[in-house]
Amino acid sequence: MKTLVIATRNKGKIAEIARILTFDSSIQVRSVADFDIEDIEETGSTFEENALLKALTVARATGIAALADDSGLEVAALGGAPGIYSARYCGTHGDDLANNEKLLKELAGKDSSLRTARFVAVIAVAKPGGSTITARGELAGEIALLSRGANGFGYDPVFIPTGSTKTLGEFEPGRKDEISHRAKALSEIAPRIPKFLSGSE
Ligand code: IMP
Repeated sequence: MKTLVIATRNKGKIAEIARILTFDSSIQVRSVADFDIEDIEETGSTFEENALLKALTVARATGIAALADDSGLEVAALGGAPGIYSARYCGTHGDDLANNEKLLKELAGKDSSLRTARFVAVIAVAKPGGSTITARGELAGEIALLSRGANGFGYDPVFIPTGSTKTLGEFEPGRKDEISHRAKALSEIAPRIPKFLSGSE
């Protein structure tokens, strides 16, 4: 049986990956939490580089193929920030509330046309030998005037997808999966994974 380690400790990402990524019984999915692996420093300068860095590090450390997600929010009026620094925009890694507060403050007084943004997710799968595959998904939208809704994680309560009046924080989890950047990247890469794991490289 082939095994794939999901190389993220972010609970929001894990929930979405688990809902979307389903395989038949020929692939066993495990969590990086089952292994003794230190946190990985994200030293890349793009989502692609960081996703590959995380997937390759975990694949090499465990000897098992690994899937990693690197994702974030790009706001046009902020020159693409917070981008690859989305998780630690406020200075503290993973403080979603403070990240959202900082973002709303940066955009204070700007009207809808200056609040354009997009979510980006890159999924990378790596084998211990070093071969990799990647897929990228994006979701266009704008930053809300106020934080709304308690569902999802990260910037979901301040992000309104194009064509919606609700923030992702007000979406039911299943509805976010129909349109999200992560769902797009996962649906593109999922059918390629069984063949990739069976390959000899
Ligand atoms: P990473 O662990 O460096 O990939 O950090 C990703 C960060 O981007 C998360 O901690 C969130 O702040 C943000 N992010 C990525 N995807 C989403 C999403 O689907 N909803 C809300 N925030 C997200």
